[in-house]
Amino acid sequence: MNGYIKSLIDQDKLKLSIGSSQTYDWQYFKIAGPCSIEGPNIVEIAKQAKEAGADAFRAGAYKPCTFPVRKEVNGWKEGLQKEGLQLLKEVKKETSLPIVTEVMDARKIEEVSEVADVFQVGTRNFQNYTLLDELGKQDRPVLLKRGTWATLDEILGACERILEGGNSKLAICLRGVVGMPSYRHIHPTVRWAPDLMMIPALKEFTNIPIIYDPSHSTGYRNFVPPVSKAAIAIGADGLIIEAHPDPDNSISDPAQAITFKTLTEIFEIW
Ligand code: PEP
Ligand code: MN
Repeated sequence: MNGYIKSLIDQDKLKLSIGSSQTYDWQYFKIAGPCSIEGPNIVEIAKQAKEAGADAFRAGAYKPCTFPVRKEVNGWKEGLQKEGLQLLKEVKKETSLPIVTEVMDARKIEEVSEVADVFQVGTRNFQNYTLLDELGKQDRPVLLKRGTWATLDEILGACERILEGGNSKLAICLRGVVGMPSYRHIHPTVRWAPDLMMIPALKEFTNIPIIYDPSHSTGYRNFVPPVSKAAIAIGADGLIIEAHPDPDNSISDPAQAITFKTLTEIFEIW
C-alpha cells in the first residue's frame, strides 16, 4: 500500500457520536433537508424531514454558489448566513434532530459550531487545508464532501488532514464528479456524474464511513430514488438527500429537490 496512507487503517478510531445525548454510528445514517435555509418555514420543513425518517437535518446557512449571487432576495444572498444559523437553533429546539450545515471558512467555525452537530465541508472547500486543519482540532463530526475533481488519493489525503489533527469523527460524502453526462442536452440540470464506484474503491483502503449524495451527483429529481438504491446496494453507509415542500420553488438547487413523500419512500428501503 502507498506509504503515505496510514491513519486511515486505524479503524477503531472511527466510532462516532453526534450531539451530546444521542449516539449514532454512520451506518444507515439518513440526512435530509432542503439545500438552504430560506426563512422561518425551515422549522416546519424540518418536522417533515423527521416525519419522513431523517436521523439528521441538513440545510445551508452559508451557500457557496457556482456564480456570485449579486442580488439579495428576502435576506438570502448565498444563504441567510447568521440569520440562517439562528433559525437552525429553532429547528434543533423543536425537532431535536442533529444539524448538518456547511462551514466555508476556518474563521467561521466558532459561529457555525453554535448550532452544527456535524460540520459539512462543501465540494468547493474539499482541499482548503486551512479549514481542514482547523476542523481536525475540533471535537465534532465532519462530513467532507469530495471535490468534483478529486482522485482516490486526494480523498484519502484530505481525510488524513482531519484525522492527523486528532479528530476522527469523520465521514466522506461522495456527491458526483466532473465528466459531462452524454444526456445533458436532454436534462440540462445534470451537472455531475454519479461516482458510485468510488464507494467500493474507498472501502479497500479505509473504514471511514461513506455517505452518498444522490441529489448533487444526479442534479435531477427523477434520478434521486434509483441512485439512492444503487448507492446502498454498492455499500454506502448512509445518504444525504435534498428535499423541499415545494421543490420547483426552492431558492437553490430546485431541479434536484424531491418531495417529502418521495423522501419517505426512499428511506423505507431501509
Ligand atoms: C450542498 O450540499 O448543498 C452543497 C452545496 O453541496 P456541494 O458542496 O457538494 O456542491
Ligand atoms: Mn445543494
